[in-house]
Amino acid sequence: MSVYQCETCGCVENTALGFYWARHDKDWPEEARGKALCSECAPRVYSDGSATGWGKWHGRFTKRQAKGMLIDSQGLLWSKETVAAGQLPPHLRIVGEV
Ligand SMILES: [Zn+2]
Repeated sequence: MSVYQCETCGCVENTALGFYWARHDKDWPEEARGKALCSECAPRVYSDGSATGWGKWHGRFTKRQAKGMLIDSQGLLWSKETVAAGQLPPHLRIVGEV
């Protein structure tokens, strides 16, 4: 499970559930384009005004803040326990902490 920090509210979000992979698509409103957002902070409408289905928390796990998590060289988050257990893939390195 790859997780990242929402650039608006600072919560932990899953790349498969939040506004992460599609953030550079041109269909999104200008103010959201390029931002990694959680499902709740993602745009409610596309540039043409049609509904996206975003704008509310997905409920697949409890929403929590990313503070205290570690950031890898790709911008994804890891818990300190996971890194201490040696589970960070060898091609990644920790570059910071939220
Ligand atoms: Zn958010």
